[in-house]
Amino acid sequence: MAEVKDQAQNMETGSISVSTEDIFPIIKRSLYSEQEIFLRELVSNAVDATQKLKFLSTRGEFEGELGALDIHVKIDKEAKTLTISDAGIGMNADEVKKYINQVAFSGAEEFVKKFKDADKSEDIIGKFGLGFYSAFMVSKEVEVVSRSYRDDEKAVRWTCDGTTTYTISEAEKENRGTDIILHLDEDSLNYLEDERIKTILNKYCKFLPVPIQFNEEQVNNPEPLWRKTPADLKDEDYTAFFKELYPFAEEPLFWIHLNVDYPFNLTGVLFFPKIKKDIDPRKNQIQLYSRQVFITDEVTDIVPDYLMLLQGVIDSPDIPLNVSRSYLQGDPNVKKISNYITKKVADKLKELYKEDATKYEEKWDDISVFVKYGMLTDEKFYERAEDICLLQNVEGAYFTLDTYKEKVTTLQTDKDGKVVFLYTSDKDGQDIYVKAATTKGYDVLNMDGAIDSHFIGLLERKQDTTRWARVDAETIDKLIPKEDEAPKEEELLLTEDQRNKIKEAFEKAAANDHMTIDLQDLGAEQLPVMLTRNEFMRRMREQAAMGGGGMAMFGDMPDSMNAVVNTSHTLVQGMLDREDNEPLAKQLLDLALLSQNMLTGEKLTSFINRSVEMIGKEFKPKAKRKAKKKAEPKKTEE
Ligand code: ADP
Repeated sequence: MAEVKDQAQNMETGSISVSTEDIFPIIKRSLYSEQEIFLRELVSNAVDATQKLKFLSTRGEFEGELGALDIHVKIDKEAKTLTISDAGIGMNADEVKKYINQVAFSGAEEFVKKFKDADKSEDIIGKFGLGFYSAFMVSKEVEVVSRSYRDDEKAVRWTCDGTTTYTISEAEKENRGTDIILHLDEDSLNYLEDERIKTILNKYCKFLPVPIQFNEEQVNNPEPLWRKTPADLKDEDYTAFFKELYPFAEEPLFWIHLNVDYPFNLTGVLFFPKIKKDIDPRKNQIQLYSRQVFITDEVTDIVPDYLMLLQGVIDSPDIPLNVSRSYLQGDPNVKKISNYITKKVADKLKELYKEDATKYEEKWDDISVFVKYGMLTDEKFYERAEDICLLQNVEGAYFTLDTYKEKVTTLQTDKDGKVVFLYTSDKDGQDIYVKAATTKGYDVLNMDGAIDSHFIGLLERKQDTTRWARVDAETIDKLIPKEDEAPKEEELLLTEDQRNKIKEAFEKAAANDHMTIDLQDLGAEQLPVMLTRNEFMRRMREQAAMGGGGMAMFGDMPDSMNAVVNTSHTLVQGMLDREDNEPLAKQLLDLALLSQNMLTGEKLTSFINRSVEMIGKEFKPKAKRKAKKKAEPKKTEE
């Protein structure tokens, strides 16, 4: 009883200093986007207090037994409390007043200042938020019971109901350390559910460096892989860690262990997943930690966009937290960190290529989108990745940009001195053109990826001695123009009048097809009509379709094509002997469209009908036979 009396006499009520006053309402209005962070803050404080004690012990400033240092999180459903207990450094009454009452006063900062020359001081979890006071987001009252590590100190109890008044008194506590007891708000009783707490601990505290017990079960891995020395780790360790992070993901292709202390502190492991052809903007693949405390998986403003295609962990206390996004982007440390990661990623790719080019080529399909996307969006990465960016030709061979240019320079340089890189965006669909080009000795690249059209544009801007043309951009002779002048009149097969007659028939036949008609001597063995698509116009339209700004005018334009009529072909030349050439011209145009898989719907139906009719004229039956007439066959209009 005496003690109680004593304690009652020693009870002190006070008011928390002015600077605190406006902080409560801010917390209540939930400064944090996620209220559940309170648990992260309190467990981090417990970790912090434990690390401080360990540190004092290594310096000989604490000579007692460290004992079990586990942190315990406990739910008391009856009392409606959630308690976080540590066996760390603890606090005496003065320290509680100083550290708990004066929010602006950061104990951690002071500690770091005190030991700033010590080599282990960086192990103290830094300041990254409102910390302790976030407890009031979920509590109607917070109770702190603490006992300092110093032998002669008495235990202390502090309580506060979220207003600026607090009480402080002596308490009974046998063991060193601190209990933070949250008397939960009526609307926060969901934190009494085991599953809820387990989920939060698993999200934020999974890799904290001190063992954390919940329901007598350790919930964390205090020594995560990224904090270990790369030289001590095997491939299996990395793949096992990857599984721990992403239990359902496919095995990663390779990984990068990040480890730097100066001019900023950063550790982590980034994994390269198989990305395949499409950019699937998988968000929240990279987790950001600060000294093993999970902070966020929204790293949008911290790492360049293309790096978000990777998976893994970045741990850095040097990324400013709880600041606005625009501030984050401009922060010099964030810029340095992002540059560092970019360099590391490029170096890793170079190393892989140097080590084993064939292996690298095998992986190329899975990483090409990443590399190209990076080169497109990050100037620095472009420079670093230029040498390890591969092109693949239709035969399946791989080349770097330089070796490819070397390979095709002799045959594929045009009259302006530009090396023309020929490509197909659909090897099967554009087979006719690909064959025409390869028959002529040209090489054709496969560029069928989701961002390849953008990537081609980028390479043209960067390398002004090269130009890209899709195999169907022109007829084969004009694809890589070698001479300046057009063929002279006497070199042409037909007179101008003859040419006009043929052109007219085709123009009439193509009236509704958005086609231009062009006459060329393609050679007797070639088809009577070939379709080409102007490279520039096609790219414009593609960009507009992808939503390129200011291109709306191209967006509505139908696919405009050029029909090249082959004046060497006998069917075309035969038109000179006849007057009614439009149906034949139509038929030849449709055949060309058909060869490009572009004849559909009504046009396809009338093409089929017309074909049957034409074939019928050639294969007339010798005698009349009976047939059942279902309906009057409808004549096509043409
Ligand atoms: P921060 O941790 O960023 O300094 P907090 O508001 O979370 O800010 O905590 C204020 C201070 O209170 C801490 O710096 C520390 O000195 C003290 N403190 C909080 N929790 C504990 C604890 N579990 N054990 C010992 N000291 C603590």
